[in-house]
Amino acid sequence: MKDFSAEVHGCHTYDATGALTTPVYLSATFRHPAFRRSTGYDYGRVANPTRTALEQTIALLEGGGRAWALSSGMAAVNLVFALCRAGDHVLLPEDLYGGTMRLANEIYSRYGIDFEYIDMRDIALARSRMRKETKLIFIETPSNPMMFVTDIRALAEIAHAHGALLAADNTFLSPHFQKPLELGADIVLESGTKYLCGHNDVICGTLTVRDADSDLAKEIELLVKSEGPNLSPMDSWLMLRSLKTLGVRVERQEESALTIAQWLRTLPEVTDVYYVGLSDHPQYALHQSQSTGCGGMISFKVKTPETAQNVLAHLKLIAFAESLGGVESLLTYPIVQTHAEMPRDLITRTGLDDRLLRLSVGLEDVEDLKEDLAQALKKAAQKG
Ligand code: PLP
Repeated sequence: MKDFSAEVHGCHTYDATGALTTPVYLSATFRHPAFRRSTGYDYGRVANPTRTALEQTIALLEGGGRAWALSSGMAAVNLVFALCRAGDHVLLPEDLYGGTMRLANEIYSRYGIDFEYIDMRDIALARSRMRKETKLIFIETPSNPMMFVTDIRALAEIAHAHGALLAADNTFLSPHFQKPLELGADIVLESGTKYLCGHNDVICGTLTVRDADSDLAKEIELLVKSEGPNLSPMDSWLMLRSLKTLGVRVERQEESALTIAQWLRTLPEVTDVYYVGLSDHPQYALHQSQSTGCGGMISFKVKTPETAQNVLAHLKLIAFAESLGGVESLLTYPIVQTHAEMPRDLITRTGLDDRLLRLSVGLEDVEDLKEDLAQALKKAAQKG
């Protein structure tokens, strides 16, 4: 089935009523038909029919065999790190969501896991940093917020040659544009809060693996059952509804993002534009070889930190807020918001600085978005 059809129809179960959507099963527990017999549903933490429909839909969209719907994107990242043991080594990219860095540096490093940050664009470097203790390579592509592109196929090969796993955070593109499992990754995760939800009204995470019967799937199942990070039935239903429009949303957002990225470059207040859809992005060809679209995320730098801060105060239509992927356009100031936890040495290495702004392009009319940015940048530059 093609993506658009899979998104619309998903894995909804049609019952005798003919309802077109899976009901919200607001039940914490389920009656047993008899001793040692089960309907397949026993207790809500372990499985709920609405969540199961969502999990099957996510697995279908990601090209995987088993998916879990979780209470946040961080719950998904947490499950990936929880696969590691004391003494394990993990390679992480230097340009990475700040919350993932915080979880690694402040929580999991306490348990004796060794996290090493490298420039994941450098395949030779990644190969040279593999050790016999390396359990996991974790990537984001495009990365947040500098839009670095990582070669998924090459890193999967390196990980597998060393008996390690490759996990890809696919939040910036969603499965509509990129399917890391089909390129060799072992685990794909999403902050479902972003494009999968698309309406800025649910916090959700998803985690998907290729084979439902693998040891990896069994270990994640054990973690989910034991730790209880599952998504609620109501939120699962909202996510099922959101997924029906995933393709039309992200394709429209991508179209507007390309227009805005090209236009931003012509503005006197803007010094640099980072968008994987610009044909002179340094890794444009690599991105094209592993994705079917470029998404709606743009980062750009203005002339001074004061201009960056003043822009936020002058926005009228675009919201100054954290997050991304929704119908409402959002402007984020990564250095004080999403990446406030990032160690200073990494900040200098990646180029993320106090002149950088990150735009999540929503579904408003593109001309209105340009007009809002133009007036805010002009006023900001006059001030500082
Ligand atoms: N991964 C990326 C790339 C993100 O941008 C975020 C949140 O911004 C997360 C993971 C965490 O997701 P959540 O906020 O749903 O916990």
